[in-house]
Amino acid sequence: MRKVYLDYNATTPIHPEVATYTLPFLHELYGNPSSMHWAGREVRPYIDQARECIADMIHAHPEEIVFTSCGTESDNHAIKGVAYSRRDKGNHIITTRVEHPGVLNTCAYLEKRGFEVTYLPVDSYGVVAPDAVRKAIRKDTILISVMHANNETGTLMPIEAIGAIARDAGVLFHSDMVQALGKIPIDVNKMQVDLAAFSGHKVYAPKGVGILYMREGVDIDNLIHGGHQEAGRRAGTENLLGIAAFGKACEAMHREMAEERPRLERLRKKLLDGIMARIEDVQLNGHPEFRLPNTLNLSFGFVESESLLIGLDLAGIAVSAGSACSSGSPEPSHVLLSMGIRPEVCQSALRISLGRDTSEEDIDYVLDVLPEVVGRLRSMSPFYTKK
Ligand code: PLP
Repeated sequence: MRKVYLDYNATTPIHPEVATYTLPFLHELYGNPSSMHWAGREVRPYIDQARECIADMIHAHPEEIVFTSCGTESDNHAIKGVAYSRRDKGNHIITTRVEHPGVLNTCAYLEKRGFEVTYLPVDSYGVVAPDAVRKAIRKDTILISVMHANNETGTLMPIEAIGAIARDAGVLFHSDMVQALGKIPIDVNKMQVDLAAFSGHKVYAPKGVGILYMREGVDIDNLIHGGHQEAGRRAGTENLLGIAAFGKACEAMHREMAEERPRLERLRKKLLDGIMARIEDVQLNGHPEFRLPNTLNLSFGFVESESLLIGLDLAGIAVSAGSACSSGSPEPSHVLLSMGIRPEVCQSALRISLGRDTSEEDIDYVLDVLPEVVGRLRSMSPFYTKK
């Protein structure tokens, strides 16, 4: 059976250059980067080099990059770190209703410990208004956290405008940039973010490595306490293989982005146009233009997304119903609900996310299979009448 992977927002395969580059870390390069002897000295430059590659990609200084275990840890570190270190200045945090659980559940945790959180609404495209952020700022606001690109819809937030508002007000600004990295250019200076979260496995590096960007001079509490790794900001022996891989993946993504971005946009357009031409009653969720180049979120009327997902899986096509973190949950997506989409329309939503191995033939195959699967499911629905 043909296998087509279209769930790149959930995770990505390892980039071939990354696999070759990191193989020695499974064999001869095993030293602890903190060791002073030859085995430690041998591996330390790989960490330094990875830090430089990543800093280069997001226009940061290498010293502003802190390696963590994943995007979720980076979100936790940023938000709890600001909350606990700024308690004397205030206890108010601003975020949006469409954030990843890594942000939303961290905020919920802090609410139970006396912090106040404002969850800003979004418009029907999933975009928060910069003016709403400005108006929500109070004397006791210590942090604004707004994601760059939404993992479910691909909609982009007006990060530069929000960054300018935060800077003007003297409030720290954190952005979950996990889905944006490698897909669109990021400049932490232009965007005026103080803290940003990234994850290796979304950019063709292995799972288990993340980054927290911490602007120089931004001093926050640590999340993990222990040794003096990462200049005392994140304890624990470095994930050498993961870090080296993350650096190599960023180097490759940085080089490939100029060609890969328009290629993905073209394939996504072909897929969207093809679906709209072949299947009736389909709704595009998220912003039509201000979005990631690789992501489509579509609701298929009279079809349950779980059934659609299974039908496509049987034909070898891997897609997602909403986000990977919430799939398996019977609740409609909090992101789509916040956009004012009716619960039954949310429950018929499918996320299709393309990546560097997606080919023209993959799209043709989906366009062959999908109308048939949707048609079969609709024929079983008592509510569906063919137009
Ligand atoms: N933030 C966003 C927007 C994501 O899409 C994800 C993963 O799906 C995360 C955070 C969490 O990253 P990780 O899987 O590395 O913990």
